[in-house]
Amino acid sequence: MKREDIALNDTWDLSLLYVNSQQFEQDLTQAQTLLNTIIQQQGHLCDTLDHFKSYLRQDEQLDRLLSKLYCFAHLLCDVEPNNAQGQTMLAQVMSLYQQAQEKLTFVELELMDHETMILDYLKDPHLENYQYKMHTLFRQKEHILSKEMEDILAKVNQIANTGEDVFDALRLEFEPVEVHGKMEFLNQATLNQFLKNEDPRVRKEAYEHFFKEYQRYENVFASTLSSTMKKDAFFASMRHFDHALQASLFQDDVPESLFFKILDMANRQYRPLFHRYNAFKKKYLQLENMYNYDLSVPLVKEKEHHYTIDECFDIILKTVEVFGSEYVNIIQKAKNERWIDYYPCVGKRDGAYSSGCYDSVPYILTNFIGDYHSLSTLIHELGHSVHTYLSNAYQAPHNASYRIFVAEVPSTLNELLLMQYMLDHASSKQEKAYLLYTLLEECVGLIFRQPMFADFEYRLHTMAEKNQPMSSKIITDLYLKLNQDYYGPDVKMSPYVGCSCYYVPHFYYNYYVYKYTLGMTIALALAERILKKDQQQIDRYLSFLKSGGSMSNLDLLKKAGVDPLDDQLYQDAYHYFETTLSQLEDMMKEV
Ligand SMILES: [Zn+2]
Repeated sequence: MKREDIALNDTWDLSLLYVNSQQFEQDLTQAQTLLNTIIQQQGHLCDTLDHFKSYLRQDEQLDRLLSKLYCFAHLLCDVEPNNAQGQTMLAQVMSLYQQAQEKLTFVELELMDHETMILDYLKDPHLENYQYKMHTLFRQKEHILSKEMEDILAKVNQIANTGEDVFDALRLEFEPVEVHGKMEFLNQATLNQFLKNEDPRVRKEAYEHFFKEYQRYENVFASTLSSTMKKDAFFASMRHFDHALQASLFQDDVPESLFFKILDMANRQYRPLFHRYNAFKKKYLQLENMYNYDLSVPLVKEKEHHYTIDECFDIILKTVEVFGSEYVNIIQKAKNERWIDYYPCVGKRDGAYSSGCYDSVPYILTNFIGDYHSLSTLIHELGHSVHTYLSNAYQAPHNASYRIFVAEVPSTLNELLLMQYMLDHASSKQEKAYLLYTLLEECVGLIFRQPMFADFEYRLHTMAEKNQPMSSKIITDLYLKLNQDYYGPDVKMSPYVGCSCYYVPHFYYNYYVYKYTLGMTIALALAERILKKDQQQIDRYLSFLKSGGSMSNLDLLKKAGVDPLDDQLYQDAYHYFETTLSQLEDMMKEV
């Protein structure tokens, strides 16, 4: 479809940001002026309380202007990549961003140097709500090195990422797969399709052809992976951390005990539930030998149904009724005020996101095609948008933006509540079974598979920190062993499982995957409680949505009524999984 053929009501309204290009230009000029003003104050930011206040004001204005300019330009370019004016605007704002980044490096150092003075300034009642922002800055202090050392580290950094760069640059080619007598193209996307094929031979061939290539380059991947682990260990120790895990968790402001708790719960305590699911699959699929590449065969097929946008909103509004009128009204506003760009069109960006800034509505981009996935994506993105909307409404600009660590909770929770609504209103057993199956599959990836990845990553980092040898044999043997324990007694391992670790990009991100597990665990536990209409829990959750980024991640979550260091959270989350599995087991007996 071409963009001009889409009804105006089904596109987002960017005139809420700027009505014409003159307004954009004006803000751009004002941002440039502000940047220059701040630069001129180098060395004097903290001279007096008034100096400091005026710096904070200018910094906030600059930040808001830049975000607003960027928001407009990137949204415009994402739906109209051939709009030359949009591209110019985007280039202008990116160049200003870069300028600000380069020229304002002195700010953080200058503020850190005046910690005692600033702590005194913060006693001023007008500055009270800057406590958390400043605390976040000051806690970095002991990990910042001398100017000379920082310069060296910056130079080392330019050559330290070769491992990841090589991993990204390698493009493997795979032997085709025979399907119904025809040779079919194999790549990452088609692999996932082949693994769902009903013919076991196709699944086996696709899996083997794919990972055979990784095996062929195993020594290259062992080097890229081990050099990345060594790089993480090096930077951690240079910045006075005990190890890479500590350095990574420091950025999220969470204790190491949280990481180990997640691993313990998922990989030990609740893993038998995953094994039970695998045993059920084996029985239901009637496979004498079930291999790891057989687990994606759909147990239940989707019932075709087409949803219109209005139908989606009817369902979504009923799903979120439990959160009360304030929440419901925001969703209605999203539809009525045209926050959403729904349909795919030529050149439009793929996928979906929620994006906005303090001075905009939280816009949503989707590629709506009317299936269940479209509906689920819409409620997911609306979860992000309501979170942003409430954060902006209730917090000052410097406390509004929340971090990735907590961001996926409201969106995933909405998906889970939608699933429950659909289950309650499903008209056939097949439809119900499909929803339960979809939920279980989504959970497995996040609450069982990712923690196994995290364990593997931890062991690799430990090897690097202890200067132990990291040959491909050592790495793949370790990965095979972890996978055997992970899948359990009912799943046989392909000989290529060991090498499949070389395909996962997340091992290059220094402890990222545990965040996926935590996000899903919290969403499951909240869903479990909210579905029981626990009003106190609902109120706490809403106050979390209104808190933006005004406190640490752990404090935010505690505000929501969930403590990730408490076993109860995991008990609630995995219980949700267990109940869903029992329901599916019962239902499939009858289908
Ligand atoms: Zn999301």
